[in-house]
Amino acid sequence: MPFRIATFLAASAVAAGLAQWFFGWRFVGWGAWIGALAWLTLDAWRANRLLNVLRQGGEGLPSRGPGIWGELAERIRKLLREREQDTRQAQERLQEFLAAFQASPNGVVLVDEQGRIEWCNQTAAAQFGIDADRDMAQHLANLVRDPAFVAYLASWNYSRDVVIDATHARGRGGQPMRLSVQVHPYAGNRRMLLSRDVTAVEQAEAMRRDFVANVSHEIRTPLTVLAGFVETLQNLPLEPEERSRYLNLMAQQSHRMETLVNDLLTLSRLEGSAAPTLGQWTRVKALMAQCEDEGRGLSSRLAPQAGHRLSFKIEADSEIAGVPTELQSAMSNLLNNAIRYTPGGGEVGVTWRVLPDGRGEYAVRDSGPGIAAEHLPRLTERFYRVDRSRSRETGGTGLGLAIVKHVAQRHGGELRIESTVGQGSRFALVFPVTRVRAARAAAGALA
Ligand code: ADP
Repeated sequence: MPFRIATFLAASAVAAGLAQWFFGWRFVGWGAWIGALAWLTLDAWRANRLLNVLRQGGEGLPSRGPGIWGELAERIRKLLREREQDTRQAQERLQEFLAAFQASPNGVVLVDEQGRIEWCNQTAAAQFGIDADRDMAQHLANLVRDPAFVAYLASWNYSRDVVIDATHARGRGGQPMRLSVQVHPYAGNRRMLLSRDVTAVEQAEAMRRDFVANVSHEIRTPLTVLAGFVETLQNLPLEPEERSRYLNLMAQQSHRMETLVNDLLTLSRLEGSAAPTLGQWTRVKALMAQCEDEGRGLSSRLAPQAGHRLSFKIEADSEIAGVPTELQSAMSNLLNNAIRYTPGGGEVGVTWRVLPDGRGEYAVRDSGPGIAAEHLPRLTERFYRVDRSRSRETGGTGLGLAIVKHVAQRHGGELRIESTVGQGSRFALVFPVTRVRAARAAAGALA
């Protein structure tokens, strides 16, 4: 301030001095006035210039000049620089937060007080069918129309999640999807939605329920029959032949239960144990020999008169790496199925060969009734049966192919099924190159 007063007085004095010099003493007063006016005009012009620059956003602030306007410009420039830095840091932090939300495996949607979308991550965009450009500021309830979700969003009671069906969300192409959505209010009435894909969890839960129901049913049936026979034996005086017939039927039922429990235990063992190592090699010839023994026995039991035309062919003398008992059980299962479902007199051919790419294939072809295409994808499901009565009659549990598939997968292989109704089926186990090698002289016996 003293500097301003000093410059103001100096301007008046200089102008008064010049007036006296050029025009004499009479004009000293005029000179002082003109000096003061000039100072004020310059001052006003500098103030105006600064104001204009600030109005235009502060770009091109005059560099530090003399006097109060110079200092003001300098201080404003410093403040603006600090503000810019803060803003940049805040932006960077915001971008980091958004990147973290993007990286989340869950869907995240931020909506404002009215339920309009403010931001969403890619997972949520894919789950709800939100177009990140077009749908911003749209009401979320207009895009996700599941009534349960709309009611949940409007309820303002978010203590629990809601599970919705997002199968028909835009861009999903009808692929099944179940989402668990939970809303978390923040900053007043703004809301954050977290969504989680629970399709697999729900499917697993449904499978578990079905499995328990199936097992109970499968066990209850023979148990009911057994209980009936026990009651009869207890209450009725029976002839020795009749008594022995009943006991035979009871033995059959308990055998059926035993087979079922054994298959269940096998399945749970397969699921719970580590994948077989490459350390144990078994000769295919030995595995096939055991299959042949079992198969011929089964054929003569099921079709004592007509029998089956069974053939066994080993195209390459190989060894397989894996658990011999599992491999044996999978191979026998396929052969036994072929015999069980092919009527007497039919043909069943078993081959082992090494494919051109080095993989090994064990295949069982039969001339049985064949399986309609719609059943093929479901054959390896537990308890799935096409021919329920034939399965029961021949001692099936409905778990055979599930076990075979597990064994194949544990050994890095696959189960291939081809079938034509009226012509027969072909079930093949294909083992990866790493688990197949040419037989060595010493190898042989089944462990
Ligand atoms: P199951 O103990 O009932 O035989 P599997 O899991 O072994 O159970 O087989 C599932 C179903 O697949 C069988 O119930 C049967 O309907 C069908 N199936 C399996 N193998 C054959 C085959 N070789 N020919 C015709 N149907 C078959």
